[in-house]
Amino acid sequence: MPALTGKGYLCIRMAENENFFAPALERWFVDNARDLPWRRTRDAYKIWVSEIILQQTRVAQGYDYYMRFVERFPDVQSLASAQDDEVMKYWQGLGYYSRARNMLAAARDVVTRFGGIFPSTYDDIRSLKGIGDYTAAAIASIAYDLPYAVLDGNVYRVLSRLFDIDLPIDDAAGKRYFSQLADTLLHRDNPGLYNQAMMELGALVCLPAGAACDKCPVASHCAAYAAGTVAQRPVKQGKVAVKHRYFHYFVIMHRGDTWLHRREGSDIWRNLYEFPLIETPTPLSLPLLRRTEAYRTLFGDAGKLTFLAPPFESKHVLTHRIIHAVFYVVEVEAVPPSLHDMRRMPWGEVGEYAVSRLTDIFLQHCAAGLWDCTSATLDGCEK
Ligand code: SF4
Repeated sequence: MPALTGKGYLCIRMAENENFFAPALERWFVDNARDLPWRRTRDAYKIWVSEIILQQTRVAQGYDYYMRFVERFPDVQSLASAQDDEVMKYWQGLGYYSRARNMLAAARDVVTRFGGIFPSTYDDIRSLKGIGDYTAAAIASIAYDLPYAVLDGNVYRVLSRLFDIDLPIDDAAGKRYFSQLADTLLHRDNPGLYNQAMMELGALVCLPAGAACDKCPVASHCAAYAAGTVAQRPVKQGKVAVKHRYFHYFVIMHRGDTWLHRREGSDIWRNLYEFPLIETPTPLSLPLLRRTEAYRTLFGDAGKLTFLAPPFESKHVLTHRIIHAVFYVVEVEAVPPSLHDMRRMPWGEVGEYAVSRLTDIFLQHCAAGLWDCTSATLDGCEK
């Protein structure tokens, strides 16, 4: 334990003897927890799926994805034997696609290393791709009642308020401190129930803005509530700068066909499909974009270009990034060589490919009748 003085340290010393709030917290959870499908199972595979889906995703959004996913892939073997593209398609719209890629790799690893049986020790669970300390502790405690404390954003917030801790939760010393505090407090007779109760309290009552302290089962034990510092907890050190990126997508049409390519490399949306893209470091209008080398390369030898619809603009906010996207729909007279390595398909087949949420929003815009290649006129601006 770091050499701390003050309320936090004193409370940890108290907690070493007894977790004084666990009984009230667990009773509250039994009476008030949301009835969710992954709470009705001890199947480690399904708990894993729910935990991964719910990372960075609200329950209301993740619920349907979870139901569809476990219906199609009911166990680790069925996931391991699935095609990558099909799994990505089931993930489409959820974002943070590395989660799906890692799950697939982990499922195949379970088949190879553990004979297709989801592992049952913390270290084995933690060794799987995409599973960090939090997820391993959640699976180990909820599926197997192993004594590992979870520490996610909700738990950080609840602990920082319960003990009125002013250490930043986002630096190394703070993380170490909270980790030890969470471990000390863990109710070892009932770790799965206790962990879920802590997270549920953070999700339903001890909210980031506007904690419902009057409904809180542990308010009488809460140091921040007593001190009037709830709104100042947790303390965060600093924010990461947001990066702006400018994507210009070209939906290139030729005789009813269009082109997609699969994103490779280590950038966002790896393995997802998208329309031909030009990215620029600053916002560029179409006349300025036409002067770039990238534009000339994309449309070299394409002959006459006819823009079929007004540009569709969309702003897409990701963690630490804002994508400013414009989709142009353009008919080419001849197929340019730049498309030869991309996948050609009739427009009607585009929906079969796994795409980013951003591209999906554009496709929904088209499906809503705002643009349809089969009915678009060829009156537009030319090259
Ligand atoms: S009393 Fe308020 S601040 Fe304290 S744990 Fe409960 S909801 Fe959170």
